[in-house]
Amino acid sequence: MSVSGRTRARGCPERTCVGCRVRATKGDLLRVVEAGGACVPDPRGTLPGRGAYLHPVKACLDLAVRRRAFVRALRARGPLGTADVDRFVEQQAVEADMSTQHTSAARNPALPGTSRVGSGSRLR
Ligand SMILES: [Zn+2]
Repeated sequence: MSVSGRTRARGCPERTCVGCRVRATKGDLLRVVEAGGACVPDPRGTLPGRGAYLHPVKACLDLAVRRRAFVRALRARGPLGTADVDRFVEQQAVEADMSTQHTSAARNPALPGTSRVGSGSRLR
């Protein structure tokens, strides 16, 4: 009996990180959109327009910047500033650092109150 073939959960759309090119669920990635010639973080996924998805970590951001992945993913005409995303990632790192010091065993960001409802597909 095989357990493979049912690993793709339908309620969890996957996106590819523009930095490391690894696929991950949307919840693990930061949505980034273009606004006024710059990349802006859209952690709630509410801003209109094309979105690029990135692990909110410095390594992936660096990779994405070096590859001009944002420009490509967002179909921008010129170079995009990433200061806002940079700041967001740094902030995330500080928070992650604080939480790992707090509970070094559990790296699972299971936030209370944000449990994912697994049933049904979201209407677009
Ligand atoms: Zn990544």
